[in-house]
Amino acid sequence: MNIILLGPPGAGKGTQAGRLVEKRNMIQLSTGDMLRAAKTSGTEMGKKVAEVMDRGELVTDEIVIGLIRERLEGDKKGGFIFDGFPRTLAQADALADLLDEFGEKLDAVIEMQVNDEVLVERILNRAKEAVANGGTARADDNEESLKVRLMAYYKQTSPLIGYYHAKGNLTSIDGLASMDEVEASIASVLG
Ligand code: ADP
Repeated sequence: MNIILLGPPGAGKGTQAGRLVEKRNMIQLSTGDMLRAAKTSGTEMGKKVAEVMDRGELVTDEIVIGLIRERLEGDKKGGFIFDGFPRTLAQADALADLLDEFGEKLDAVIEMQVNDEVLVERILNRAKEAVANGGTARADDNEESLKVRLMAYYKQTSPLIGYYHAKGNLTSIDGLASMDEVEASIASVLG
């Protein structure tokens, strides 16, 4: 089973993907995590994307599509959870082509709905907690970059809601419910 978790930054995609990995042996493909890993390890690509990511803008379609392609070539286990990908219509078309190419299909797109105030609060709290625990906050978890990330979501990513609705595989769930309730909603979509 292959699914997309769709939703703005802070919607809880990563948390729910983690639960699906544990319970269903699925593979989480988070382009954000992959890009951050490239940034940390200082690869050429990592250096190229660092500033764009820190500002909160989207990196090029070409880069993220390349990252996803590499992963689809590997182990499939219980299927893929696309987390933070696709984020543009071009990425959505590319994913459809890639899935065809690898003989896979898309089983569900789950849109996690949360309002902006909650998103901002969750992300700024995440940054504070990271610092309180002796770590460092993500470079884009600050008010300024967050505004850019939300704008990128509404302008470039939210059109995917209509795109997948038209394809017939969209389900929207309430991302404001508790983590367990959200998990249960996702489980009922996946069956
Ligand atoms: P969030 O959903 O909380 O914003 P992510 O970890 O998914 O966090 O993404 C962090 C950043 O990584 C994005 O703001 C963007 O710069 C980059 N990024 C991640 N996925 C994509 C993608 N599919 N297309 C373009 N840029 C991406």
